[in-house]
Amino acid sequence: MFPAELRDKQYVWHPFTQMQDWVSRPQKVIAAASGIKLIDTEGIEYYDGVSSLWVNLHGHRKAEIDQAIIDQLGKVAHSTLLGLANIPAAELAEQLVAIAPHGLNKVFYSDDGSTAVEVALKMAFQYWQHKGKPGKQKFIALEQAYHGDTVGTVSVGGIDLFHRVFKPLLFTPVHIPAPSCYHCKLSSDPATCGMQCAVRLEQVLAEHHQEIAGLVIEPLVQAAAGMIMSPPGYLAKVRDISRKYDILFIADEVATGFGRTGKMFACEHEAVAPDMMTLSKGITGGYMPLAATLTTDEIYNAFLGDYAAKKTFYHGHSYTGNPLACAAALANLRIFSEEKVIEGLHCRIDAAAVKLKAIARLEHVGDVRQCGLIVGIELMQDRSRKVPYRWDQAVGANVCEQARRLGLIIRPIGDVVIFMPPLASTVSEIEAMLDIIEYAIRETA
Ligand code: PLP
Repeated sequence: MFPAELRDKQYVWHPFTQMQDWVSRPQKVIAAASGIKLIDTEGIEYYDGVSSLWVNLHGHRKAEIDQAIIDQLGKVAHSTLLGLANIPAAELAEQLVAIAPHGLNKVFYSDDGSTAVEVALKMAFQYWQHKGKPGKQKFIALEQAYHGDTVGTVSVGGIDLFHRVFKPLLFTPVHIPAPSCYHCKLSSDPATCGMQCAVRLEQVLAEHHQEIAGLVIEPLVQAAAGMIMSPPGYLAKVRDISRKYDILFIADEVATGFGRTGKMFACEHEAVAPDMMTLSKGITGGYMPLAATLTTDEIYNAFLGDYAAKKTFYHGHSYTGNPLACAAALANLRIFSEEKVIEGLHCRIDAAAVKLKAIARLEHVGDVRQCGLIVGIELMQDRSRKVPYRWDQAVGANVCEQARRLGLIIRPIGDVVIFMPPLASTVSEIEAMLDIIEYAIRETA
């Protein structure tokens, strides 16, 4: 065993991992990377089929981002945003505002997706205090939502496996049904259902809007739920309903932002301008932890006053607006415009769609969901009757293990195989990765 693996097993506690299982099996230790491949300590290369947890966009060791970080290291690695400004954070804020949906003119930095959403929740809560509507204290969230792992974001989460154990510690949101056509319990026909899942939001708000601060939603794709994808029109509809009942609309674009869905932001697909938008993951091209909560002048202005008015937003972290991370993010945005990344996505998305058609025909594939370069392949023991595998069969995990033996790193969510390759993957790399997935499903499911 390599010393790094030994040390890891002795000292590291891995996230979302049953450590008893982890330490009992051989594990891969990543030592290097090149392009869209990760390389382990034995020199074996793997396609990074989940973009190192949905963050990597332009591949690893992208020269422009490497250089931007090196250049910034020659200036200053970190200085606080409490009482000081820094050049990359100021420049990045301007650029984020320029590309964000209309009206999002202010940027509040934090460090990861969870803190970006946590900031949005606290900001929304405090906003209504300042607006003289202190009764607006509750949030609406979607069933099976995932917005992070801090106490606030777990509160608005809805994935039983992750969130139930913490219930006594949490505040309670109002949950509305997830727009999950494949598993819909509200209607048997998505073509004629009239989007009952969105209607439910209107019903809740008609009765309770005076108590509701905001709705938090993953636009288009509920990622950690297993890539649940909302039907066309759903996002715009829930946005309209939120506006009608005067609640804040918080779009959590942590997973969907920065090109993942085929546009820069998922909200663009339905011309939605949220009151707040949370960003992280791809913001630095997958290089460094950084997050941002964007909001409107209306919300920002509600926090203005002298200190005695106690309207200050008392929230911030040690590394908020870290110059190295902001420099990486600026390089990321430069690559988007210089390499026309969004324009180049169409052929990649189409190539994936062609391969996915074949995968959808496999005996144990129940549903294939694709939005841009976000893919969820849901496995079923009996697909005609939608009978899932037993939990202890761990079929999703087994498929991913098989794929790893064939040189592709992917991770399942239950029995949904997730494929989320770097945006820079070429058409032939995408095809090669999906061939591996097809083979692994055939052999294992
Ligand atoms: N929001 C969404 C939509 C996510 O998918 C995630 C992570 O997967 C988060 C928030 C939390 O982000 P982080 O893991 O960076 O805290």
